[in-house]
Amino acid sequence: MLQRKPMMAGNWKMHKNAAEAVDFIRAICAGALNPDVEVVVCPPFTALKSAATTIEYDKLEIALGAQNMYWETEGAFTGEISPPMLAQLDVDYVIIGHSERRQFFGETDETVNKKIKAALAHKLKPIFCVGENLEQREAGQALDTVSSQLTAGLQGVGDDNLAKELVIAYEPVWAIGTGKVAAPADANDVIRHIRATVASANKAQTAQDIRILYGGSVKPANVREIMDEPDIDGALVGGACLDADSFVSLVNY
Ligand code: PEP
Repeated sequence: MLQRKPMMAGNWKMHKNAAEAVDFIRAICAGALNPDVEVVVCPPFTALKSAATTIEYDKLEIALGAQNMYWETEGAFTGEISPPMLAQLDVDYVIIGHSERRQFFGETDETVNKKIKAALAHKLKPIFCVGENLEQREAGQALDTVSSQLTAGLQGVGDDNLAKELVIAYEPVWAIGTGKVAAPADANDVIRHIRATVASANKAQTAQDIRILYGGSVKPANVREIMDEPDIDGALVGGACLDADSFVSLVNY
């Protein structure tokens, strides 16, 4: 049985250049980060190399994530980045299926599934995002939406080591970047449902061990109550991860 180590992952989105990434990483690691929390920074592609070099050179205990990738290894796919390209940069995690990718860049459950399989095949750990939009929430379809995204995204993904190799992030779309955080108990209910959905398709132990994060307007003022919920294993954070002091407060919730 695994201990579900809490995770605080910062999704920088389209912010910070390579030099700013180095300064930011050094700034967060200069303070004491709770060693019992896994810290992940997800800079844009253009800052991954400098981030990776800084983490290695300074021997920092943080993990590196990318925000997206394509599923093919190489080829005529202008503008895309492949799993081996990320793996070569010592990237540990890759966010897959973020709602901004689904909303603005045509990501579907099918492409998400291809990306998850490709990431796992190249030893990259997906942070697989699911979540309902406002219309779905108001129609009482939140649970059905996340379980259908989950089932489609994990189709054909084997159970072996899934809990070690993949993290799920429940990110209600209406809470992302809006300042409207989900009520912690509600978020916990959806996350419990996600765990049950994983259990129905996998070994019960896998569902017990897999980490499930909450994402959507998490900030230092609300992180504690979110992390107090029993099924929530961490947070995927956008806006509040961009400032070093704020991100350190989140890690040290
Ligand atoms: C996100 O983009 O994954 C996110 C949770 O953003 P924010 O924290 O800004 O709502």
